[in-house]
This record gives sequence, structure tokens and C-alpha cells, in this order.
Amino acid sequence: MATKSKKTKSTKKPSAAKSITKKSVKVAKQAQAGTAPKRVAAILAKLDQAYGNATCELNHENAFQLLIATILSAQCTDVRVNQVTETLFKKYPDAKAFAYATPSELEQDIRPTGFFRNKTRSVMGASKAILEKFGGQVPRAMEEILTLPGVARKTGNVVLGTAYGIASGVVVDTHVLRLSNRLDLSRNEDPKKVEEDLMKIIPRETWIKFSHQLIWHGRRVCHARKPKCIECNMQSLCYAKDKTI
Ligand code: SF4
Repeated sequence: MATKSKKTKSTKKPSAAKSITKKSVKVAKQAQAGTAPKRVAAILAKLDQAYGNATCELNHENAFQLLIATILSAQCTDVRVNQVTETLFKKYPDAKAFAYATPSELEQDIRPTGFFRNKTRSVMGASKAILEKFGGQVPRAMEEILTLPGVARKTGNVVLGTAYGIASGVVVDTHVLRLSNRLDLSRNEDPKKVEEDLMKIIPRETWIKFSHQLIWHGRRVCHARKPKCIECNMQSLCYAKDKTI
């Protein structure tokens, strides 16, 4: 028996039309989230203008010291960490000294930075891993640095970016998180997702500098409570709900 051949209508759009649609959806989304390339470029220019020399404020002489200082900086100010590390790095000059320290003694040495028991475990664990797995050197790859105890992406980005100049991501600390939301560069609240959002809209060669600049702006002007908007050079670009002018 002969079968009737059914003509099926193709629902596929021509590929050019499809890519135009995709592009216009992307542009619409960007405009909605405040991440239109022109706006992002204007924000970066303003940050350059205000914080051309922004850098990491944790005192250190090498990648290892920066790693330890960054672990100690969790829930603590950089000023306090710098006060502690000034004597700490003299008493414990390298990874070996930290790895085989007496835990109760190290706890007292870093006590002023808070959470000193956890931090002692992280500092000693990371130092041992650096000696045993990485030949005494802080690794230069994000996958490797993340295997160190007490090290998550934020610490990894700080160390790789500042000590080695390697842009593996964007540091998202409390300031970068708050300012990314205020400046409408990300509408996420999870630091990992905010970092992904920022990595999509900020040019890679700017990642390291951008993190420092946003941290400086958060510390000096765009405070969590009562941002000093009158002193901010991004007033015209910012439409944060808690803007004070
Ligand atoms: S205008 Fe105010 S809220 Fe907006 S970025 Fe500047 S200081 Fe922060």
C-alpha cells in the first residue's frame, strides 16, 4: 500500500535571522542589567581616574606571605592584619616555619585577627601542602591553589593576581559584592555568580586592577552604610537605591 508523504513545514529560522534575534536579546538583557558595554567602559574610566594607583593593601614581600596575610584577612581589616604580620613574618619566615609551628603558640600569635583556631589550621595546612605537594612554592594555577586548606576563589584570585600578575578571575570580597550590585554590574548575590557576571563584562586585562579599584572605592567612598555619594565621581552613572544624593 502506498503511503502518503506528509510535507512537514520547517520551523527553523534562517541562521542570519536567528543570530540577529540572539544578539538583540543579549543587548536587551545587557541594557536591562546596566551592563551595556558603553556604561561599563564609562565606569572603568571613572575608576581609573579616581584610583589609578589602586593596589593590594596587605603588606607582603612574596606570594607565600600574601597567601598567609589573605587567609588572616577573613573577617578582619587589612590594617589589623598588617599589624599582626609585621612581627609574625619575622618569627615564621617561610612555609616550613609555619608548617611545623606549635599550634597553640601560633593561635596566640594570630589571635588579634579573629577566628584564630580555624585560621591556624588553614595556615599550617596550606604551608604543609605547599611544602609537600608544590616544592615549597605557592602554585600558579587556580585549580592547584584551590587544593590548599582554607583557600577559596577569593584568596586564589588575590594571590595569583597580585603576587604573580595572573588574571584567573575577579576578586569578589564584601566591597566588590556590594558595589557590583549598587553599580548594577550584577544582580546576583552569590560571590561566585557575581564573579562570573563580572568576568563576562570586564575585559580580562583589567580584572586585577578593577578588583583593587572597587575595593578602594568601597573602603574610601562607597561605604556599606551611608555611601559618600557627594565625593563619588560615578554619581551620573549610578542609580543605586541607597544613593545619598
Ligand atoms: S554614587 Fe554613591 S552609591 Fe553610587 S557608586 Fe558612588 S558612592 Fe556608591
